[in-house]
Amino acid sequence: MPVTVKSFASSGEAAAALSSDRGARYLGGGTLVMRALNEGDVSISTVVRASDQALTRIDASGSRVSIGAGVTFARILAERELAFLHAPARSIGGPAVRNMGTIGGNLFAPNPYGDFTVALLALDAVVSVQGGFGARDIPLEEFLQSRDRQAGTLVLSVSCQKPLAADAFRFRKIARIKPKGGSVITLAAHLPVSSGRVLGARIALGSMAPTAIRAKAAERALEGRPLDASTIAAAAAAAVEGASPADDALGSVWYRREIVGVHLRRLLSGQE
Ligand SMILES: Cc1cc2nc3c(=O)[nH]c(=O)nc-3n(C[C@H](O)[C@H](O)[C@H](O)COP(=O)(O)OP(=O)(O)OC[C@H]3O[C@@H](n4cnc5c(N)ncnc54)[C@H](O)[C@@H]3O)c2cc1C
Repeated sequence: MPVTVKSFASSGEAAAALSSDRGARYLGGGTLVMRALNEGDVSISTVVRASDQALTRIDASGSRVSIGAGVTFARILAERELAFLHAPARSIGGPAVRNMGTIGGNLFAPNPYGDFTVALLALDAVVSVQGGFGARDIPLEEFLQSRDRQAGTLVLSVSCQKPLAADAFRFRKIARIKPKGGSVITLAAHLPVSSGRVLGARIALGSMAPTAIRAKAAERALEGRPLDASTIAAAAAAAVEGASPADDALGSVWYRREIVGVHLRRLLSGQE
């Protein structure tokens, strides 16, 4: 089946083309879209691209960071100001995938992918999108809950607050093939500490539901408490609450439910 490629100079034109055609798919780095096309996915009849430079802009100078949807993981790794995002960027694929894959595409990547999105969710990121309705900002958690309905929407950028201390943000990806490989479980935690107590904890999990999710029961177990052994044990015990893990060749539902608490305990304890 022939596929039409439409390239636009502005993101506005690309968003209009996407929202008016059900068979249109935006092409970021193409690591997933091109694979789908090569495998004969007939649901894609049009590929939309935009050369708008805003899509590849990084603004990391202030306390709030904004990253264009078209920014690749290789660029994140080259940006010193984004050191807190280097572990999630490095966890993705091999060099070729990191050179092509974008943070915008990662928001849509199905299990066992979407590792960078897990990190962004723990950082309370906000997604800027443009659709037929105009541009708006959506909290990432809300965006993920309605991800299936976001087809036809162009993601412009993602923004988040920089963690105040290097130790306040932690990331861990469990994979069978290291350093790359699909995720068995991916975990990220943002643990702001004030007067020795955790305030505003965020824990995000990948491969524990159809999209990245927050482990809200575990967050509650940490809230207002010192990050000591008993608090960590309570958070680890609550990690699986609300999860509906993926069941695939990398791990069964049972296995993922068994190990999520173990890995959360290690992450919160600062263990390698
Ligand atoms: C060998 C291999 C290994 C991989 N390993 C990992 C891994 O370890 N971890 C991981 O998380 N992922 C992995 N991936 C998946 C993928 O490379 C990444 O998730 C990447 O971030 C996808 O980005 P992309 O720009 O290539 O997406 P694309 O293929 O361009 O697009 C993917 C989807 O997102 C949509 N999209 C892309 N950009 C936008 C936008 N700006 N607005 C709206 N929709 C958009 C597309 O329309 C499409 O539906 C791997 C892929 C391969 C082939």
